[in-house]
Amino acid sequence: MLRTGDEYRDSIRDGREVYIDGELVADVPSHPAFKPIVDLRARIYDMAHEDAHREVMAYADPASGESNTISYKLPREKQDWHDKARWVDAVMREMGGVAIRIGDETVGEMWSLYDGSDVLDEVDPRFSANIAAHIERVVQGDIFHVSANTDPKGDRSKRPQDQDPDMLLHLVKETDAGIVVRGAKYETAAAYANQAFVKPTIANWGDDKLSDYALGFICDMGAPGLKHICRTGFADSKKPEDYPITTRFDEVDTLLIFDDVLVPWENVLFYRHTRAASFIRGTLHRYSAYPFVLRVLYLADMMIGTALFNCRQTGLENNPAVREKLAVLAGWREGINAHLTASIAMAEESPKGLLMPNQSLLYTGRVHAISNYPAMAHIARELCGGQICVTPDFATFQAPATKPWMDKFYTVNENWTAEDRRRLLAFGRDLLNSDYAGHRTTFELFAQSPPFAHLNAVYNNFDFENALDFVQKCAGLSDKVRG
Ligand SMILES: Cc1cc2nc3c(=O)[nH]c(=O)nc-3n(C[C@H](O)[C@H](O)[C@H](O)COP(=O)(O)OP(=O)(O)OC[C@H]3O[C@@H](n4cnc5c(N)ncnc54)[C@H](O)[C@@H]3O)c2cc1C
Repeated sequence: MLRTGDEYRDSIRDGREVYIDGELVADVPSHPAFKPIVDLRARIYDMAHEDAHREVMAYADPASGESNTISYKLPREKQDWHDKARWVDAVMREMGGVAIRIGDETVGEMWSLYDGSDVLDEVDPRFSANIAAHIERVVQGDIFHVSANTDPKGDRSKRPQDQDPDMLLHLVKETDAGIVVRGAKYETAAAYANQAFVKPTIANWGDDKLSDYALGFICDMGAPGLKHICRTGFADSKKPEDYPITTRFDEVDTLLIFDDVLVPWENVLFYRHTRAASFIRGTLHRYSAYPFVLRVLYLADMMIGTALFNCRQTGLENNPAVREKLAVLAGWREGINAHLTASIAMAEESPKGLLMPNQSLLYTGRVHAISNYPAMAHIARELCGGQICVTPDFATFQAPATKPWMDKFYTVNENWTAEDRRRLLAFGRDLLNSDYAGHRTTFELFAQSPPFAHLNAVYNNFDFENALDFVQKCAGLSDKVRG
């Protein structure tokens, strides 16, 4: 089934308790902090119904004949991944920008758990049936699905039991209807999504005492007892002419409080199960890292395009030192492209027969994309020059007393009018220098786990044996060194 944008808007009018700037939000879809991003998400739903986009956005389910979104289709062959990349491309171009947490980038976390069905069966076969049912439900219902991993955590030198136990989400009690949980999670897009896959944060699951914290479940974002306490929005305090990205793409993050929330049994994926917690932490991003890294490709194109337009309009493009900087940006961009392309070309079968991007290439690509992100943004900032931060606002370009001066000093040549130069500089500022640009840099660093976890994923998936074999051969080492 394919939802419409309005069906999505109605689905989040479910009485959920959302706070922002200390106030209870009466209607999420129309609140100025949420409206721009809700409208974008709604637009994606509507695209799938339009002739111009239908073929890229949806596929016919062979069993039911229903049209479903390509973004949630289980990947079984390489073409599925190419189709998903086309879906992302169509969405980014239609939106005219980059939104990250729109469902396709988080749904794969459930596929990872599906791969661990054998682990889930160790405790209770109901749980592996539950994950299979939820994967199907998201596809059939076109549900906006997001991700909740990170607890406030508190003092890491203390065990959770030795401080406020709510610092990590935990089991309160079991009932006939389900489990009752308490704690909190940080979660992008929670306030305007339908559901989240809630799971434990990174922890040492060797300690059985933590078992009340080893919980995985699907949580309805309108469930009684949930409180969405959102950070201040960027979008509603700025003018669109001056902040064209901030005012459209602010993906509001939430501190999601679970104040004794009942999770029905059919939504429980594992509980009191430290091995399942370890499994999901070790495999969580095996699919979802692909769309996450793919977004950085689009951010790279935005940096390159903005920097190059600026160099062209000011006649700097042919300067060799400027070209070198553009080449560094291109090298970063193509490094991301190469990792993504190769990860599909050399894709691997998962334990449950799905097709995973090649894990080593995908995770090394994630490190390449994210660890270089701040340095590349800085090169783009440098190439845009200081005018991105000293240029007056749109109102100044319009006001009768100042307009002639703005026209005089911002008209660069016959091709670049003052208005186009102003637009490019405003866009560059919002991409690289604004509050939201800084926020996005931190998002890229942390939102799909912190950098140390990215490196840990590389360590766990790189084939070190090949290098050991080669050195053993080259150095003439005996077989004993391999233990
Ligand atoms: C904009 C944004 C959006 C986010 N969206 C989501 C979301 O949708 N869902 C979600 O679940 N989470 C989300 N997060 C949370 C994100 O996953 C966490 O920020 C991240 O996991 C790090 O946790 P922390 O912030 O508590 O940092 P801390 O755990 O306090 O870590 C801070 C730093 O300490 C060091 N450190 C900590 N522990 C270790 C360790 N074991 N080994 C080595 N070094 C360590 C590292 O340098 C680390 O970066 C988001 C974060 C941001 C900034």
